[in-house]
Amino acid sequence: MEECIFCKIVAEEIPSTKIYEDDAVVAFLDIQPIRPGHTLLIPKEHSDTLLQLSIQTLAALTSRLQLIAKAVMEGANAEAFNITLNNGKASGQLVFHTHFHIIPRKTDDGLQPWQHHKYAEGEAETIAKNIRAAVGIDK
Ligand code: 5GP
Ligand code: ZN
Repeated sequence: MEECIFCKIVAEEIPSTKIYEDDAVVAFLDIQPIRPGHTLLIPKEHSDTLLQLSIQTLAALTSRLQLIAKAVMEGANAEAFNITLNNGKASGQLVFHTHFHIIPRKTDDGLQPWQHHKYAEGEAETIAKNIRAAVGIDK
């Protein structure tokens, strides 16, 4: 993926503030952090979104989350962290090379959580049925 900015970071064709690297993944600071220490954990293997990533690479990627998140929390002197993954344009994904965001958090740091809503009558059952069918477990 010649034009992929994160592939270029993996190949060290463009610089990054690297936190961690091994055979399967790289972690580096987000260039425009939500909070100082905001880190991106990416697989070396390119995939536009999570849905194209091989299961082996996904397993390797997620197996590093705990190590990196703990280090981000400690290194940024935070109390907690959020892990997010924007998947697809409508979700806010801007860089189409799968990546987890690890965002250090403190009490009263001003970041707003997402808004929750209530289901209308019958809505939860309908959508659960559709999702179960898509998973392939709806009998
Ligand atoms: P997305 O919206 O795709 O989930 O997030 C992409 C993230 O990548 C953004 O938070 C953005 O600041 C970060 N980013 C974009 N380009 C670069 C870059 O060249 N270097 C680094 N370190 N981060 C980048
Ligand atoms: Zn890429």
